[in-house]
Amino acid sequence: MGQSFTMRILLILPLLVVLISCKAQTEEELEIPIPDTSYTEDQVSSFYEANKGNKLESISKGTVGNGSLVNGKLFPFSGPNFQYFDTASYMEKRAYVNDRVLEAVLATYDSLYTKYPDRSFRVMECSNEHGGKIAPHRTHQNGLSIDFMTPLARNGVACPDYDDDGVMHYLMDFDDTGHYLEDKSVVIDFDLLGEHLIILNELASQHGLKIDKVIFKKELKDELYASEYGDLIRKKGIYITKNLTPMINALHDDHYHIDFGIIR
Ligand SMILES: [Zn+2]
Repeated sequence: MGQSFTMRILLILPLLVVLISCKAQTEEELEIPIPDTSYTEDQVSSFYEANKGNKLESISKGTVGNGSLVNGKLFPFSGPNFQYFDTASYMEKRAYVNDRVLEAVLATYDSLYTKYPDRSFRVMECSNEHGGKIAPHRTHQNGLSIDFMTPLARNGVACPDYDDDGVMHYLMDFDDTGHYLEDKSVVIDFDLLGEHLIILNELASQHGLKIDKVIFKKELKDELYASEYGDLIRKKGIYITKNLTPMINALHDDHYHIDFGIIR
C-alpha cells in the first residue's frame, strides 16, 4: 500500500497553490508522481459491508465548518450510474454522510439513470466517519457536505476520460468558459450539471433537506445560468456562492461543492 490519502492530498496542496499562482505552466511542472494506492473491488466491497454504518438516524451536529457526525453512513462505493472517485480516500473513511443526504443523493442518481442510462457520475470527498476536521477541506465536518465531480463532454458526448484520475482530478483546471486547459475539446457539461442541481434540490426537500450553498468557480456561473436549467436554478433560489477567496474559487471547477441544510 502507498501513502495515505491524507498524505497525498496534503502533498498536492502546495502544488495547487503554485498552479493557481503560476499561469505559465509547463508539462514538466504538472507531472506529479502518483503513489499506487489502488485497492481491489473485493477489498472495497468488504470494506463497505464492514463500515457502512448502523441503522440509527444520523445526527449532524454543529456546522459544516465546525461540527461532527453521529451515526454517519458510508456512501456506497458504486452503483448502476455512480462511483466514488478514489479508493484510498474511501478506505480512509472520508466518504461518510448524513443518512438523509445519502438518500437524496442516491434518489437523484436513480432519477438521472432513468433519463441517461449510459451516463456515469462521480462523488468526491464527503466527511469523516464521526465528522470533524478533514484536511484540506474547510468544511465537510458534519456529513452535510459533498463534492461532486463536474460532468464533462467532448463534441456533445459524455467524456469519462478523467473520471478515474482519483485525487489528481482535484487538480484539473478549466478556462472561464469551462474548457479544460490541457484539452480544449473537453468542456463542462453545464446542462447536465444544472439538471443534477435541480433534481437534487427537489429530492433533498423530500428528505427534509435543502441545498444551502453551492460552491462553484464564479467565472463559470454565467455559463451555468445560460444553460438549459439556468433559469430554473435562479427561480428555485439555489444559492451559488458569490464571493470566494482566489484559491477556493480556482479549485471549484473540476468539482462543485454542496452544503445541505436540514429544514425539518
Ligand atoms: Zn468541498
